Amino acid sequence: MNVSEQLSRAMQLPFGKVLADKMAIIEFSDGTWSNHRVQPLAPLSLSPAAHVFHYASACFEGLKVHRWKDGSIHAFRLGSHLKRLQNSANLLCLPLPPLETCRAMITEVVQACRDWVPDNPGTLYIRPTLIGTEPSIGSASSPSKDALFYVLVSPVGDYFKGGLRPLRIAVDTSHWRTSPEFGRAKAGANYSAALKMIQQAKSQMGVDQVLFAPNDDVQETGAANFLLINDDSILTKPLDTTFLHGITRDSLLTLAPDIGYQVLEEKITLDRLWNWVGQGEAALSGTAAVLAPIGTLLRDGQAVTVGDGGVGANTMKLRQALLNIQKGESPDRYHWLERL
Ligand SMILES: *Cc1c(COP(=O)(O)O)cnc(C)c1O
Repeated sequence: MNVSEQLSRAMQLPFGKVLADKMAIIEFSDGTWSNHRVQPLAPLSLSPAAHVFHYASACFEGLKVHRWKDGSIHAFRLGSHLKRLQNSANLLCLPLPPLETCRAMITEVVQACRDWVPDNPGTLYIRPTLIGTEPSIGSASSPSKDALFYVLVSPVGDYFKGGLRPLRIAVDTSHWRTSPEFGRAKAGANYSAALKMIQQAKSQMGVDQVLFAPNDDVQETGAANFLLINDDSILTKPLDTTFLHGITRDSLLTLAPDIGYQVLEEKITLDRLWNWVGQGEAALSGTAAVLAPIGTLLRDGQAVTVGDGGVGANTMKLRQALLNIQKGESPDRYHWLERL
């Protein structure tokens, strides 16, 4: 298959199924990083005793490159994603190449895969990945001495094929998605820890995701931040260590005042949640889906309609405002885009 056939295939398949034919890679051993390189996409060769397989020393990032109408390509908030990767690596005691090297690797692999950036509404999704590779099954309580950092790129279609569908989300008031300290790490282990709870809710209640709200504190879902929206405000939980500091969340909060919304970063108690959704809107934010409307929340297994149960007008307005910046159709006032 040539690249354009691969791209049309990627637009049909679920998010992340098609990878471009190149990757960037660098290794850490004996206390130093090798030279980085862009090479053909290929399986990795690792010891079965590698730290990551036993002790889950792994974290990642997810960001997008957008193709504008004039054909040029632009990464969205690359610097913010690199900073967050540094934070995740720190929490996992993993070495990370200097940020300038990470940046060069991303830039180089994207430039080598320029043809793989689809037209709007498709994007090129970038997946930097850091793993501990030291072969030692006895290293349960010590950091991996060796590491591997690589960057995958994947052409992706519109997350919502066939239009936006209001999501159905179960509110879980008794479980944590992960530990209170690790919420802010984009670590693979957080996802595996939450999987059982999400699978159970999916099979028992037919929901798309779970909104974790332990201790009367509405936090986030398995893979996206949670926002309450109405005609004049956006309400979301203030940053703390319990949840992932989404860059989409931050971008929406930054641009919201420009289009007439007041930003409230305040604790969302369960009472506040149930009061809000009687009239207002609720949505999930993240790089993959941008801003996804919630139509129904399940409270103790009982369906509660959010607003009118459809796609909220304010949710759409905020979503479009961010998409317009990413596509170069509104001015990039905050210098979020970098031409590659
Ligand atoms: C990646 C992620 C998000 C969204 O972050 P963005 O930077 O907006 O993509 C939210 N919650 C979790 C748990 C995540 O892993």
